Amino acid sequence: MDTTAEASHEPDARPVEVAVQDVVKRFGDTAAVDRVSLEVRRGEFFSFLGPSGCGKTTTLRMIAGFEEPDGGRILLGGTDIAGVPPYRRNVNTVFQSYALFPHLSVWDNVAFGLRRKRVPGAQVRERVGRYLELVELAGMERRRPGQLSGGQQQRVALARALVNEPAVLLLDEPLGALDLKLRKQMQLELMRIQREVGITFVYVTHDQEEALVMSDRLVVMNAGRVEQIGYPEDVYERPATRFVAGFIGTSNIFDARVRALDGDLLVLEAPPGDRVVVPAVDGTAPGARIAITVRPEKLRILGETDPVPGGLCSVGGTIAEVVYQGVSTQFVVRTDAGDTLVAFRQNSERVSDAGVPGSRTRLVWHPEHNVVLADPPAADPSPPADTDPHRQEELVP
Ligand code: ATP
Repeated sequence: MDTTAEASHEPDARPVEVAVQDVVKRFGDTAAVDRVSLEVRRGEFFSFLGPSGCGKTTTLRMIAGFEEPDGGRILLGGTDIAGVPPYRRNVNTVFQSYALFPHLSVWDNVAFGLRRKRVPGAQVRERVGRYLELVELAGMERRRPGQLSGGQQQRVALARALVNEPAVLLLDEPLGALDLKLRKQMQLELMRIQREVGITFVYVTHDQEEALVMSDRLVVMNAGRVEQIGYPEDVYERPATRFVAGFIGTSNIFDARVRALDGDLLVLEAPPGDRVVVPAVDGTAPGARIAITVRPEKLRILGETDPVPGGLCSVGGTIAEVVYQGVSTQFVVRTDAGDTLVAFRQNSERVSDAGVPGSRTRLVWHPEHNVVLADPPAADPSPPADTDPHRQEELVP
């Protein structure tokens, strides 16, 4: 499985700051992290995304040095850090719980690490002042954490970590305790701060939107394993696996058998009048069953008799549900092939023009929006209908 497809960008020439190589971490019989490999570039905003328990935090804690791997290696700036205690690693961690000292002022919280390292007073003053300015807390130096809002406390935690100017800042769900509005505002703040300081950020979240918005690149994890690593648009537009397609956004996933090869397209079995083709995938021959995903916003919903533009996939069906959602309307369509597909339509036209439940419809979309998933489709007992190998030659122009 290609979990590192990065089709939309040029190769990144920046040096690797964090390398996780085949890392395993077990708790009892469970592998919380199961042979994870990835690289984070210097200055990148890199996120770990996945559901609760998928191993994101454990991986982060191994980078920080709070846990040691049972297998594999972690390199920071090219150096293996096995056995190096957390305080000797050139990383700092920001936790969801902030972990501020309640009895110390904002200033003293931020200065704490520098004073412990015996940084000269003038430098402490300059750096604490600069980072409090950066997180927009200038003027609140004398307050205690209890006299601050959640968002302000998180800014103190951030300044306290950044003031050490680590090579890598590790952030474990840092916005998890904030309400939605503040969370969105802090997302933008964190992006600005990261751009200004240029430090590598490794960010853990279970919130897919947050990961898509904030990250340069992200890894999607599931049950301790890497499902996909890529740029947000790659992970969203070209999910590698059924899990990624289902976890990020809304996805249509359906299984179909390859009927024939037509140039660089696979022609799939479909009811009469329908046409579904997908870009050819290496090693997929007529007769094979494959799993396909296509995003709902790629599907256009037509009336049954509307002309179908040439070259598009086209599937007939019946509208089962129409859900008005303000900016868009969601249509659930039961196709003649027996699948259920969801289509979004921007409400730039009158909603009622697209059909009502029970009416016949036709969904059309460009073949390039179909993505063949790496995992096998659900088991299908029925034999292939048309797998004559000569058929392939007939259809090749
Ligand atoms: P969350 O978003 O809920 O924090 P996560 O993806 O960060 O989830 P981890 O905290 O890394 O997941 O946990 C991965 C798995 O390892 C889970 O099944 C968890 O119960 C288990 N686990 C984590 N820490 C320990 C520990 N100290 N002892 C035993 N099991 C642990």
